[in-house]
Amino acid sequence: MEITLTQGDITRQRVDAIVNAANSSLLGGGGVDGAIHRAGGPEILAACRALRAGHYGKGLPTGQAVATTAGRLPARWVIHTVGPVHPRPEDGAPELARRTELLASCYRESLRIAAELGARSVALPAVSTGVYGWPMESAARTALGEVLELERKGSLGEALDEARFVLFGADAYGVFEQVLQELSHGP
Ligand code: ADP
Repeated sequence: MEITLTQGDITRQRVDAIVNAANSSLLGGGGVDGAIHRAGGPEILAACRALRAGHYGKGLPTGQAVATTAGRLPARWVIHTVGPVHPRPEDGAPELARRTELLASCYRESLRIAAELGARSVALPAVSTGVYGWPMESAARTALGEVLELERKGSLGEALDEARFVLFGADAYGVFEQVLQELSHGP
């Protein structure tokens, strides 16, 4: 599997699955979630409502992921995942560690579901780095660290060809590029 980075709009990616930084209500929000629902049309929201009426009556817990149709998007599935809100300094180190693990879990669960569905290419946003306030560099270390680890452990089997991080803007792209370079080749 190849880990690639692209700067741009995730709704324009031609991939099998697009990961959405959703909120636990699954009923839409701003940021990348809003963009995905706008571009994908009402079918995605209808599928999310059906999930809320069924197995996810209380919403999707943080760190978990679930797939729906991609509606009109040039993909087969949207995989919704709920990132953690970045803790405040006064919440302390154990809480930061706990939420960092939840952020890693978003990527682990999203890619596990993608592989289970038979997706070969997946586009991923920088989960939690918008409204949820996660600093980009820390988010990049967690996101890329987790995906590299899954690859090293062979957890994704032969299923996926490409995990494509789609960064919104040059700053986010630059941070991910530097962290990927560091994690894959050393500083
Ligand atoms: P969260 O609530 O998880 O923080 P947001 O959607 O607010 O989610 O932000 C997550 C990241 O997605 C941010 O870095 C934001 O700039 C980025 N983003 C917003 N719109 C898009 C888009 N259309 N494509 C890719 N990334 C996007």
